[in-house]
Amino acid sequence: MAADIVDLIGQFVQLKKAGRNYVGLCPFHGEKDPSFSVNQERQTFHCFGCKRGGDIFSFWMEYHNISFMEAMNDLADRYNIQISGGCNPEIARKAKDRRKSLYMLNQHAMEYFQGVLQDSVKGKPARKYLEKRLLSRDIIDRFCLGYASDQWEGLTQHLRRRGEDLDLASEAGLIVPKKNRSFYDRFRKRLIFPIFDYRAQVIGFGGRVLDKSKPKYINTPESPIFHKGESLYGLQTSIEAIRAKGSAIIVEGYMDCLALKKNAMEEVVATLGTALTTDHIRRLKGYVKEVIVIFDSDQAGQAAVVRSLPLFSNEALEARMVVLPEGHDPDSFINTYGMGQFSNLLQTAVPILDFFLELKLKEQETDEGKIFVMNEILKVFSEIRNLPLRSLYVRRLADKIGIREDIVLSELSKITSKRSFKPYADMTKSPVPVKAEINVSDLQLLSLLVNYTSAVPQLVDIDCQPLLTSTVAIEIVNSIFEVYLKFGEVAYSELEDVLKTDAAREQLREIQHRPFVVYSQEDVKQAIMECKEKINHKKLLASLKKAKGDIQAQNWLVKDYKKKDCEI
Ligand SMILES: [Zn+2]
Repeated sequence: MAADIVDLIGQFVQLKKAGRNYVGLCPFHGEKDPSFSVNQERQTFHCFGCKRGGDIFSFWMEYHNISFMEAMNDLADRYNIQISGGCNPEIARKAKDRRKSLYMLNQHAMEYFQGVLQDSVKGKPARKYLEKRLLSRDIIDRFCLGYASDQWEGLTQHLRRRGEDLDLASEAGLIVPKKNRSFYDRFRKRLIFPIFDYRAQVIGFGGRVLDKSKPKYINTPESPIFHKGESLYGLQTSIEAIRAKGSAIIVEGYMDCLALKKNAMEEVVATLGTALTTDHIRRLKGYVKEVIVIFDSDQAGQAAVVRSLPLFSNEALEARMVVLPEGHDPDSFINTYGMGQFSNLLQTAVPILDFFLELKLKEQETDEGKIFVMNEILKVFSEIRNLPLRSLYVRRLADKIGIREDIVLSELSKITSKRSFKPYADMTKSPVPVKAEINVSDLQLLSLLVNYTSAVPQLVDIDCQPLLTSTVAIEIVNSIFEVYLKFGEVAYSELEDVLKTDAAREQLREIQHRPFVVYSQEDVKQAIMECKEKINHKKLLASLKKAKGDIQAQNWLVKDYKKKDCEI
């Protein structure tokens, strides 16, 4: 299979065909209206909002936050292509092999844990526990649940017998090294939840105790293939339902996720017992219009709401909140009250801002208390980079506590100035370069040369520079001709390499994805002619200026111009 950019990005961003391009919501910055564009013909993407763009590799690097080499390996794997050139092939091969080995090791470990769970003696306590939690065999199989018994070296010995590389297993976080070059199992006496990535490869594990001992959960530590703050449990089985519904439910833990799954609620994912991160939200926002977040009613759950408000606002994703009655998590709630009551509860989900204000303002009777809480709230607001949304929030807050909006605003600006806050500052990794003024005639010529390559041979012989004003346009046009003269055609992959400045590359993508003028076949001919005319005219004017006073020379110039004009 060849790597197609629409096919690939389409798995992460909902794309709609719009003219020559596909458009969708940018996965790299918060937005409500699509400014993210993918061009199949050129195999490029470009965001008109945050200006990120490039080819299939740039997308993969940016989306998964990985190096170019990793992106190459990933995509080579995915599309079965041989990597050549670029980086040191020996290093690339080793890195690829190592990642592959880590996935394989996790796969073996998962099978081992599954085997222990089904073992008539060793697996008994875990099977009893699962029965108590009303998890059926069907769910156990579907999510590949397993069990780590109380042995210190169960998995270690299993891997050793198989002849696996134990150092690598330790890197995968499966076993822990001891002093004397030996190892012991990380997960003991725990129910095992394998965690999968979007390709359904096992990247890590969560382990839960069966009794009240602490810690209740442990996870695989960070490894080259496992990043806790980016992973969502259950995503590989939920993505179809999430896509179809256009919404997702986020819960806190493995058990909560499975409790909903077993009740045929499929559009659910869980964070791995961590707070929500921007990466989590970005994983989902390509598919959904809103998410419903279900938090426990405890202190930690409430703190999580506070932290997630700016994240949702910055990603421009609507979020509603559900809080469960005290002492309940989704699993215990459903097991006690049934799915019908749970669905009713979902109906009562409130927008995250209302929820947050309610949470903070309740029980604040005194004026001093209100002012104190207002400052707490404004601290959270100050993290919101979406300024229009932030000002709406301020108005709501002012209404709620009965303080004039301008006073609330001035309090907010005290906080933001203390932080020397720059709106949108960290939304783009590299600052958007300052563009030299690009004008209409620049854009017309760029549209023509970039999108209608048949025009290039006809214009290559004449010097187009007099028609252009901006340095960026001049750089692009010169590069197009340079590539054409060198290769006999304009390959855009070559073109990106020839361009020297980011501004030019960005402008090139922009004109590819949103041509300033769209020409028909006939229009192209016309445009080429007009272009030649304009250049001759400009040249004439320049020459006439030079020949000032020399009537004979001026006459000759005009004659020559008319002759050329007739030729055109
Ligand atoms: Zn963007």
